[in-house]
Amino acid sequence: MKTLCPICNGFTALASLCPNCSLQLQDTGRLADYYGDYSPYREIDDAKKDNGYPDLSLRQCMHVTWCSLCQMEQIVAVDEWASY
Ligand SMILES: [Zn+2]
Ligand SMILES: [Zn+2]
Repeated sequence: MKTLCPICNGFTALASLCPNCSLQLQDTGRLADYYGDYSPYREIDDAKKDNGYPDLSLRQCMHVTWCSLCQMEQIVAVDEWASY
């Protein structure tokens, strides 16, 4: 089964709140994008294995978000949707 991230694919906006101040977090991109140049989906899966998060088996897309109030980065796990 293939899965895709609804946020990376523009289906929905990130709706996570900052755990400190409950402000809406701003999505600044995929965690995988912080590991070198843009790469095809296949290689994103490979990159996921090395980033220290168990997101490949859980089918989650790790997003780096930013709270503008706390001036703090938060890593948010986004549940991916099944696609057939
Ligand atoms: Zn994503
Ligand atoms: Zn905050």
